[in-house]
Amino acid sequence: MIPGCWIDGRPVGGAGDIHAVVNPATGETLATFALATAEDVDSAVAAARSAFPDWSGATPSHRASVLRELARLVSAEADTFAREEVAQTGKTIRLATEFDVPGSIDNIEFFAGAARTLDGKASAEYSGEHTSSIRRDAVGVVGSITPWNYPLQMAVWKAIPALAAGCCVVLKPSELTPLTTLRLARLASQAGVPDGAFNVVTGNGIDAGAALAGHPGIDVMTFTGSTPVGRTVMAQAAANGTRVQLELGGKAPFVVFDDADLDAAVHGAVAGALINSGQDCTAATRAIVAEPLYASFVDGVAELMNAVVVGDPSDPATDMGSLVSFAHRDRVAAMVNRTGARVVCGGRTPDLAGAFYLPTLVADVGEQDEVYRDEIFGPVLTVSKHFGDDDAVRRANDTAFGLAASAWTRDLYRAGRASREIDAGCVWINDHIPIISEMPHGGVGASGFGKDMSSYSFEEYLAIKHVMTDITGVAQKPWHRTVFARKD
Ligand code: NAD
Repeated sequence: MIPGCWIDGRPVGGAGDIHAVVNPATGETLATFALATAEDVDSAVAAARSAFPDWSGATPSHRASVLRELARLVSAEADTFAREEVAQTGKTIRLATEFDVPGSIDNIEFFAGAARTLDGKASAEYSGEHTSSIRRDAVGVVGSITPWNYPLQMAVWKAIPALAAGCCVVLKPSELTPLTTLRLARLASQAGVPDGAFNVVTGNGIDAGAALAGHPGIDVMTFTGSTPVGRTVMAQAAANGTRVQLELGGKAPFVVFDDADLDAAVHGAVAGALINSGQDCTAATRAIVAEPLYASFVDGVAELMNAVVVGDPSDPATDMGSLVSFAHRDRVAAMVNRTGARVVCGGRTPDLAGAFYLPTLVADVGEQDEVYRDEIFGPVLTVSKHFGDDDAVRRANDTAFGLAASAWTRDLYRAGRASREIDAGCVWINDHIPIISEMPHGGVGASGFGKDMSSYSFEEYLAIKHVMTDITGVAQKPWHRTVFARKD
């Protein structure tokens, strides 16, 4: 049995029931641990609160050097991180090696640099009698709850900007996939993050997650996960008036205009829909294709999906691994089974032992169909026709979600219109999926609010303070006369 928590710089076993981390591609148990409870969350928050004065008081250059060392230590264990990520999620080794792990290292390096950019933005005599300046101070103790789809990257996106800003962190990873988050916390201690500044409590949402979100010792609550759970977390945090940041679900439209490069759109749709077995909040899920290109697009996507190699995720020749669990695979399968639309390819589980599901294209899908409206979070792309630019934009926005979207066109004005009028936190033009540490990630509407990555995310962990200093040196300020009219 492994310790499922990292509290105050040490591995700690939780006080709850025993839980197994299962490899979804094989069914094999990778580790067992005792789940964290509300009491474990209390100890982690107490450790974070006592570490806060020293960590927030450390110089930015010290915090930067600690984070640079963490990036170095993660790079040194990059292969282990990648293999562990594959084993606990079922994602392919190519994805873990080329995207998850290097993306995480780049993000740590970015925020090591950001740690040294705490300068205020204003210094001026606005009243004529005072100098005003702005401080940006660490906000305090941050509670984070992360999902299972990109366990390492999600832990990095939440914990590292907070640590860079001088905050202390209590992070609850998904109980399905805690291994790489625990490894990250151990390496953070090794890199010089002080005891108590970065704590991990692996427990169920209903126990540890709820205890963390509703804890009065938390100053900012950051959450990545599904929309219903995000709203519950917001309500729990509201009991203490705690500030929240929510990165929630998505249902990204993939809009193909009639002048698009069809080959590029077909390849982009398949890659954008199948990345991480479709368990990506920005994945292409709703292809909305101009009527003249529709039939060729459906044929091209089906041909490419049928050629995708599904199987052992640890084999570099595999294109798509398993889903995260058998329960999730069954949920995806049930949604596809309920649709009345045309299943062009896939639509079933392959003859493999793990939680696999074939790449699936559902065509001629209706606007009220569940697979068109709700998040599936599996390797399933729906496709429907649009009849001109107005109709394309209307269909793209016909969703409660607003995380990501893409527009495929060679026309500058259409691209400009799509990027202005599609409601989403990110609009790609002639691509779908790439992200970079320097640019923000986060949505609108049912996809939440606030940002991960970039300097915008750094602001989530800083409190703005106005400092107003008298420059007159006189005892009786002119404004005192508003309160009492002494004349001497
Ligand atoms: P989930 O909402 O079921 O769980 C997310 C986390 O919340 C887990 O750690 C879980 O244990 C915890 N949790 C569950 N119930 C809770 C409760 N009552 N109180 C507090 N915490 C609770 O999501 P998931 O299934 O792990 O991940 C898939 C979802 O995450 C999808 O909806 C996907 O779109 C979303 N996601 C969004 C982004 C983004 O950046 N917007 C990124 C990745 C995943």
